[in-house]
Amino acid sequence: IVHWTPFFQTYKKQRYPWVQLAGHQGNFRAGPMPGTILKKLCPQEEACFQLLMQDVLRPYVPEYKGVLDVRELEDRGKTEANNHTDGILTNNIETTNDKEENKGAIVASYLQLQDLLGEFEQPCVMDCKIGVRTYLESELAKAKERPKLRKDMYEKMVQVDPSAPNAEERRLQGVTKPRYMVWRETISSTATLGFRVEGMKLARGGSSKDFKTTRTREQVIEALQRFVDGYPHAISKYLQHLKAIRAALNISPFFASHEVVGSSLLFVHDTKCAGVWMIDFAKTLPLPQHLPRIRHDADWQVGNHEDGYLIGVNNLIEIFEEIKEC
Ligand code: ATP
Ligand code: MG
Ligand code: MG
Repeated sequence: IVHWTPFFQTYKKQRYPWVQLAGHQGNFRAGPMPGTILKKLCPQEEACFQLLMQDVLRPYVPEYKGVLDVRELEDRGKTEANNHTDGILTNNIETTNDKEENKGAIVASYLQLQDLLGEFEQPCVMDCKIGVRTYLESELAKAKERPKLRKDMYEKMVQVDPSAPNAEERRLQGVTKPRYMVWRETISSTATLGFRVEGMKLARGGSSKDFKTTRTREQVIEALQRFVDGYPHAISKYLQHLKAIRAALNISPFFASHEVVGSSLLFVHDTKCAGVWMIDFAKTLPLPQHLPRIRHDADWQVGNHEDGYLIGVNNLIEIFEEIKEC
């Protein structure tokens, strides 16, 4: 299930709007330094950022500045931050043992990241989730353990596409979770193009979240066209950046050794600049021992760990090239 709300968060000190196109709103907050944001710590993502800072992909991901421990008072008005260079969760929690001072306080650890919107003025922002599937092999395996019939998932399925359930599923008025997970990737362009538009925010108002069923190549082209409409310079810059990212991916030890699932490319432009960055590594995992590398452009079959990341990047490049020629 994708929970996401686009919203504006006004920084206390900096006073510029921040756009979040995915994830839970509570997962992000303003960073202590201008140009930084905080994302709730996930140990898997932290491990990725540590490796990425040593990899050829470093220029294409937000700068990672370590783990930050934040004491959140209930009113969220006053916060205290203790800088940690390497975040060990238990240590972080131990840093606040003054009972009186911490009454009603919750301690949370965050990744301190470069704010990719920091250098832009009234930016247009788009989040594209990359890959032919957005769940881990382990998540599918877990769902297959005791597959129960799910009426709620059946209903969600029918709401999007009344013809999706087969005769048996219709008779039982239920589908299993693994069946739902695989089906879900086919209602957007994820399964076919290796990426989908997750959210978009245009400079003036217009933020759209309604891309759940943006599926065909034509529909996707239309959405991307709308995104760059009025910013002709952005198209060639995006193409340059995407090609640079692809070249770096092809020689990256990090990319060769990881399954990159649920990760996004974040596109940002304003009237002057444009850039693309890789974000969200919460579901990026080292490959299992018996699999030293994957191709990233091969078909996914259960168990082969292929993520289709390059299928998505290649299709994005092709589509932007088509848009450029229009
Ligand atoms: P989900 O797993 O649902 O995609 P998440 O909680 O893992 O969400 P992200 O995908 O990392 O969160 O980020 C959510 C949104 O926040 C992005 O779509 C983007 O709009 C914004 N965002 C994330 N990281 C940055 C960054 N470094 N700079 C600017 N914006 C960012
Ligand atoms: Mg994301
Ligand atoms: Mg995520």
